[in-house]
Formats: sequence, structure tokens, C-alpha cells
Amino acid sequence: MSGRIMRARSEDLYEQLQREMAVLIKVNNLTGFLPVKLDNLLRAIIKEMDDIFFPFKCELHLLTEGRLESCCEYIKAEYCKALNDQLPLTLEQGDRLCCQAESCTNCYQFHVCVPLIAGIEKLGIVTLKSKQKTEFKRDSMELLLAVVNQIAATIQRARLFARLAQEKANLEKANTEINQLNQELQKSIEQLNKTLEQLVISERLAAAGQLSANLAHEINNPIGVILSRLEWLLLEAEEYGLPQQVIEDMQVIANHTERIAKTTKGLLSFSRQTLDRMSPLDLNTIIIETTDWLRSQFLRKNIRFDLKLDTIPRVFGNPEQLEQVLVNLFSNAKDAMAEGGVIIVRSKVDTDKKMVQVDVSDSGTGIPDEMKSRIFDPFFTTKDKGSGTGLGLSISYGIIENHGGCLKVVSEPGNGSCFSVILPSFDSGKDGNWRE
Ligand code: ADP
Repeated sequence: MSGRIMRARSEDLYEQLQREMAVLIKVNNLTGFLPVKLDNLLRAIIKEMDDIFFPFKCELHLLTEGRLESCCEYIKAEYCKALNDQLPLTLEQGDRLCCQAESCTNCYQFHVCVPLIAGIEKLGIVTLKSKQKTEFKRDSMELLLAVVNQIAATIQRARLFARLAQEKANLEKANTEINQLNQELQKSIEQLNKTLEQLVISERLAAAGQLSANLAHEINNPIGVILSRLEWLLLEAEEYGLPQQVIEDMQVIANHTERIAKTTKGLLSFSRQTLDRMSPLDLNTIIIETTDWLRSQFLRKNIRFDLKLDTIPRVFGNPEQLEQVLVNLFSNAKDAMAEGGVIIVRSKVDTDKKMVQVDVSDSGTGIPDEMKSRIFDPFFTTKDKGSGTGLGLSISYGIIENHGGCLKVVSEPGNGSCFSVILPSFDSGKDGNWRE
């Protein structure tokens, strides 16, 4: 062979190598992308393969649910063989390549079939077909194997991504469901705790009510007798010429006896919280009337009222008892602000729940956490002897409960307290019994 021919051949070979190299780099670049749209990516690779392996036509057949997609039944058996053996296969016409039907697109003279395998997973096959009998060189086969390996890795990676995305979506869904369940559980626990708290208070109050009724009854009569005798004695003291010291002592006895009478009166109203004299009434009017008669007395202690009253529906209740509740809450607010301050009284309506709410807020001492569960207990007081009986809140709690409502407190030690009276609104009475 002459030197010129040899040079021409080696130039051809060099060109061929360069083209193959370019395709490999292109395929490599394509498969390097995150395979979001796998179909598009595979189509682009197949197009590149058509160019490099010309005049062969390149096709890709993927396994779906264990079956090879769209190919002639005759040739499919051969493809399956290549896939099962996991080895490349070349076929020529005469090996009964296909059905030979006129419409069949698989009627090619020469086939190369390479299985697409990733690890142990069979993915499909890649075929090169030619209408003419032609030679398929060993180095072309090596190039084909390299590209097919890239395709297999890309498909596997894409499927892994899809599976991961699905798992992620499943996890996120499960997480959302768990969070929802958690929130519902949290709400139920809070509701249960509130109900439990109210049950404990109600039980304590019921027991205390029974005891108070008996006790008040027993004490009230003798106290009445003692007080009236004392009043007579004090009236006649000078006539009998009793020494001043004795009169003063009798006065002290009378004061203390009056205090006992006041306490038993409180006990009686606590145990006899009946619903007599119930009528539809406007809480705003009761608030205004009560604050009007307390205003000057409270001003002496440097306490002001600030009323923020919304238009609210009427409630069904006993005006004296509800007034008593307000007086108790106002007095406690006043006592909590020794240096003076403002008692904010706010009325509002919760139309959804058909409830009316009155908030009494102060900026006083607040209530320590460990004390919050005890303030509604009868006789619980932190006030000096003589000024507190410890009955105000327990009586108020019982009254509001008997009205079908609830009395709540929110308090921050050092920053004041807010007591809320919540009552069903009359105009939208839940069972209609209260409607006029
Ligand atoms: P009393 O007023 O006779 O002590 P209560 O039953 O009305 O009885 O109140 C019980 C206790 O609850 C009070 O002694 C006080 O410690 C606490 N308390 C009630 N209201 C308030 C308030 N607004 N601020 C701070 N503490 C309060």
C-alpha cells in the first residue's frame, strides 16, 4: 500500500474517531442534566445516534410492566432473547427477522440489538437497523455499548428521582396529616383540661354550698339575737351608768358580730343561688348603673372606670345577682391596684357562638400561677383579716354557672388580671325557650 493511500486512510480514521468522540461528549452532556423530562432527553440521544451510526436507524424499546413496547411480534422474540441473555445480538434477514408484511416497519435486512441493563434491572433494548445488508464493525459496537450504558444509567437515575419525588410527596402528605391530628389532639386535651377544671370547681362549690347552707342557717339565728340584744344594751348603757370602757368593748363586740352576720349573709346567697326573678336584661345597663354608684367611692381610692361597651344582645338573668358579680369583680380589681389605676370594662358579642362577654381588666398585682386554681374556692383569700371573706369569686362563679355561662380569668403576675363573664345571649337562645 502506497504511503498516500495509508495517509488518506489514517486521516479518514482520525475523522471518524473525532466524530465518535464528539457524539460521546454530546451524549455525556445530555445525560449529565437532571433528567426532568426523560422522554425529551431520550429522543435527543436517539437523534444523535442516528447521525453517528448512519445509515442505521436507531430505536429504543422500553420494558413496561415486564413487556417490550411497540415492536413486531416476530422480532420481539429475538429482542427478548437479547434482553434475557443480557448480551448484544446481530441479526440478518434469513434469520426470519419479522413478519414481512408490507406495512411492517421492522422489515430491515440487518439488526443490531443491545439490551439496556442497569445493575440487575432490565430496562429495555436499543436497536440499530439497516434496510441494506451491511457490515457492523467491532469499534462501532464498542461505541454503541458505551452509549447504551449511558442511556441505561440515565433511565435508572430518572426513575430513582421520580421515586424519590413520590416518596417525598408521600412523606409531606403524611407529615401534614400528622400535624393536623396533633393540632386536633392538642385542642381536645385543652378542652378536656378546661372541662376538668370546671368540674373540679363545680364539685367543690356544690360541696361547699351544702356545708355553707347548714352552717349559715345554724349561725344566722343566734347572731340575730346577739345583735339585737347588743343594740338594746348599747342604747341603755348610759341609763345603767356603765363605764365608758365597757361601752367601747360592747361596740367592738357589735362590730365583729356584724361582720359575722355579713359573712353568713354571703354564705346564704352562695348556697341559695336560685334562678328566681329571671328576665331578659341588658348587661350594658347593669354595668352603667353599677359603675355609677361605685364611682365616687372608688375615686377616693384613686380608681377610675373606663367603659368600652359594644351594642350587645340581651341576656336572660337575675339583675341583682349579675350586679353582685360585677361588684365583686370591681372590688377585687380595686383591691389589686393599691396605688390606684383604671378598671376597663368591655362588653362585646360573639355572634358565632351566640354569647355575650363582659371583661373586667385591671393593671394590678395579678395572680400567681400556683394560686389560679384556688381563687374560686370558698373562703380562699389573700386579703387582710377583716377586709376579705374569700367568698366573692366563688359566689360569682356559682351565679354565672347557674345562668348557663362561665367565669374565666387570664392573669399575669405583676401585670394585672382580666376576668371574663360569658353568658348565652337571650335573643338567640339555643333552645328557643327564652325567646319572648
Ligand atoms: P376576697 O376578695 O374576699 O379575698 P374573692 O373570692 O373575691 O375573695 O377573691 C379571692 C382571691 O382571689 C383574692 O383574695 C385575691 O387573692 C384573688 N383575686 C381576685 N381578684 C383579683 C384581681 N383582680 N387581682 C388579683 N387578685 C385577685
